[in-house]
Amino acid sequence: MGEVLRQPGQCAWQIFDAKVVPLLRDEYRIGKVTKARADSIDELATRIATMETMDAPALVAEIERFNAAVDTGTPFDPTVKDSRGTRGLDVPKSNWANRLDTPPFEAYGVTCGITFTFGGLAVDAEARVLGEDGGPIPGLFAAGELVGGLYYFNYPGGTGLTSGAVFGRQAGINAGRGNWG
Ligand SMILES: Cc1cc2nc3c(=O)[nH]c(=O)nc-3n(C[C@H](O)[C@H](O)[C@H](O)COP(=O)(O)OP(=O)(O)OC[C@H]3O[C@@H](n4cnc5c(N)ncnc54)[C@H](O)[C@@H]3O)c2cc1C
Repeated sequence: MGEVLRQPGQCAWQIFDAKVVPLLRDEYRIGKVTKARADSIDELATRIATMETMDAPALVAEIERFNAAVDTGTPFDPTVKDSRGTRGLDVPKSNWANRLDTPPFEAYGVTCGITFTFGGLAVDAEARVLGEDGGPIPGLFAAGELVGGLYYFNYPGGTGLTSGAVFGRQAGINAGRGNWG
């Protein structure tokens, strides 16, 4: 992710071939994706180069290097870390390495985003913001992304909006009741 942020415009391209396109998540099929499709890597590189500054021959050469480095002796298994990697590249791929060799090829423009900060203000069950003494700060409520203390290393899917709805409702009810602590 850090490497993507260091690219011009903080954007990168993910390239897939027909073997793995069916494995892509639904997000890749929404209408607003930045996408290129072609029947050869040369053509795909040229299409990407028309959308942004891109050295198309360098991209083709990089893909050829990647294809030659794939450990085809290890079976591909997308359901586990399959150790099917690359050999001899400066930036190795450790699992799920597949040659880009089956048309049509698809490229998706990607960037980085923050799903959760995993940090924020402490609140009680009534969505009142807690001060350093652990007690509620009068008249201050919080809900949604700015609430902390709910998630740590990871989060169950859908809980961002659920927490926003639950604490938002609590904050509204308690502010309306004048329950200010
Ligand atoms: C890529 C991505 C995917 C996600 N997928 C899921 C998912 O599948 N399920 C799920 O539950 N959650 C998901 N989340 C998390 C979820 O979107 C957030 O938890 C939720 O949107 C937070 O809502 P919020 O109202 O607290 O904050 P936000 O949605 O960030 O709203 C804050 C608003 O305040 C505005 N604002 C900021 N500063 C000011 C200011 N000074 N004056 C006026 N307005 C201001 C902003 O413009 C923004 O509109 C996802 C998040 C991301 C980024």
